[in-house]
Amino acid sequence: KYKRSPSEIFTCQLCGLSSPFTYYGQKPPNTRAIVLLEECFVTKDPFSPDKEKFLVLGSTCSMCSSCVCVGSDCSLFYTKRFCMQCVNKYLDQFPHQIQAELAKKRQSSKTAVS
Ligand SMILES: [Zn+2]
Ligand SMILES: [Zn+2]
Repeated sequence: KYKRSPSEIFTCQLCGLSSPFTYYGQKPPNTRAIVLLEECFVTKDPFSPDKEKFLVLGSTCSMCSSCVCVGSDCSLFYTKRFCMQCVNKYLDQFPHQIQAELAKKRQSSKTAVS
C-alpha cells in the first residue's frame, strides 16, 4: 500500500513527471458519484472552477507498485494498472488485442521519430 509522503508530490517513476496531488484513493472527495476503477493520485483540476472536476495524475503498478502516470507511454490500464516496464515484461500474458494495440503504437511512434 502506498504511504503518504509529507511532500504530497506524485512523481512518475518512468517519465519523471511530478505534480502535487490532493488525494490518493478510489473516491475523490467533493465528488458525488465518482468511484474510480483503481486507486489513483488525484488533484483538483486547476483550470476548472467546478469543485467536482479533478485530474487523475497516475496510479501504482499492480505488479511492481511503481508510481506511474496515466500517460500511454508510461502505463496501461487493463483490469488493473500496469507500468510499461511490466507490460513489456509480461506482454505475452496480455490478450492479443492489447498486444496488437501496443505493437501498432510502437510502430507509429517509430515513424514519428524518423
Ligand atoms: Zn509518466
Ligand atoms: Zn510495474
